[in-house]
Amino acid sequence: MTMHEYEEINCPNCGTGNEVLVWSTINAQVSPQDKAALLNASINLSTCRQCKTEVLIDRPLLYHDMEIRYMARPMG
Ligand SMILES: [Zn+2]
Repeated sequence: MTMHEYEEINCPNCGTGNEVLVWSTINAQVSPQDKAALLNASINLSTCRQCKTEVLIDRPLLYHDMEIRYMARPMG
């Protein structure tokens, strides 16, 4: 299950509130596009709409990858 929500994060440089999408859980199988985004480090990182400073969202990210579980327990 992939979970994300919008939160207002204040820019550390100018204090402007930016509405950003915060990811808390990513499931690699359900959301392969999210996995790709994670590998590209393009999530939980925003750019201030006022001063263009990069705002890193300091939030633990729970990353689920269920491939191992599937491999250990054959279907059927
Ligand atoms: Zn700013």
